[in-house]
Amino acid sequence: MVTASTADLVLTGGTVLTFDDRDTEATAVAVASGEIVAVGDVDHLVGPETHVVDLYGRTVLPGINDSHLHGAWLGAMWPNTLLTGMAGIEGEAPAGPLLPDAQARRAAILRTGDVVAELGITSYTEPGLGPGEDAGQTGCFSAAVLDEYAALAAEGLLRARVTVLRLFGELDGPSTLADFERGLGSPAPQGDPRWLNVNGVKIFADGIPPMRSAWIHHCYADGTSGHLLVDGDDLADREVNLRRMIDLAHRAGAQIGVHATGDRTIEVVVSAMADAIAAHGPAGRHYLIHGDLVAKDVLARLPELGIGLNTQPGISVTTAPWLAAALGDDVVRAAWPLRDAFDLGIPVCLSSDAPVIGPDWRQWIAAAAEWMGAEPSPELMRTLLRGYTVNAARQDGAESWKGSIEVGKVADLTVLEANPLTLAPADLPGVGVAMTIVDGRVVFER
Ligand SMILES: [Zn+2]
Repeated sequence: MVTASTADLVLTGGTVLTFDDRDTEATAVAVASGEIVAVGDVDHLVGPETHVVDLYGRTVLPGINDSHLHGAWLGAMWPNTLLTGMAGIEGEAPAGPLLPDAQARRAAILRTGDVVAELGITSYTEPGLGPGEDAGQTGCFSAAVLDEYAALAAEGLLRARVTVLRLFGELDGPSTLADFERGLGSPAPQGDPRWLNVNGVKIFADGIPPMRSAWIHHCYADGTSGHLLVDGDDLADREVNLRRMIDLAHRAGAQIGVHATGDRTIEVVVSAMADAIAAHGPAGRHYLIHGDLVAKDVLARLPELGIGLNTQPGISVTTAPWLAAALGDDVVRAAWPLRDAFDLGIPVCLSSDAPVIGPDWRQWIAAAAEWMGAEPSPELMRTLLRGYTVNAARQDGAESWKGSIEVGKVADLTVLEANPLTLAPADLPGVGVAMTIVDGRVVFER
């Protein structure tokens, strides 16, 4: 912990929403050597060299953490996204990979650093980089992208902290147990884990319901039920191989994030994680990604198992009509049960999945409230903001040093023009980001 007689930076004259255990509010925060050194009473830390920022009533939040955002891909696509704002790339697929070489990979990651800094995002998870995508169409998910992240981290050029899940198959595609086992045994880039944390693996267990590629108990209109993406001779063999992957990664001490959307897939994934925990002890901060059709009884098991849920309310709102077309309105009504997940005390992470949709978390907090049909309240806003701060830090295994504004934690801060607790979620997208601070350094100022 830093003990400072004077602060490098002081933000004062506004509201500081700390998101500590007691949801303390203060009017000022002081920073020295990249760390928070005081919350509330900071005047004694102001010296001649201190940069004092008058908040003029604006609000400071813990830095926003988008816990599922494809950074290199976003940088390659921006300002276009897959589901919205396709202007410019409509109809025509690019002639070659989006990121053909090291220079392009570097430029894309740096561009995403700029995009997220403007949005107040100070951490993100890059969910799936690895050798299975080395020959991939886009070039956005290869092992070379991970190497570029490592280079940028070593050079001190990342503008947000990055957590990476390594991928040993194809993105949104097949994987084999043999490749997974080989990949798991291969070394990950090392560096300062506070800037680049590569301790997790991503598994694509199935596809998505609108494409009829989610594995479900019921049938799609064409009579099919989807299947697991993990390779195998038949359904049973695919399931065995998925369970082995989860067991292997758990025993290796890796965090496991599993793309799972169909109710049948989610059931198998949670059961496999439960078996691994029972056999080898708790570990890893494992989590479900998307979780579209999770059954209530399966959801209810997550808290005791310590399994998280990482979900994208922007995608729920955007793709609900497609889900309805694939499986009917009743299925849509039960899908993405955000309210149940919060009520059960699951550490829900809200995220964007950019560039599938845009990375603006303010919109997706509004979408979450819309999806829940929830009455606006300060408590609702706190709950949703936790999904982008405290809970996301927990997913990163980093709640001891980031995710809230407390003495001793890193100075990752987002300054908003207004206090979100006084607003309905639908009004949040209209609130400007005034300033973004990462590790005590101002990386964006309006
Ligand atoms: Zn994704």
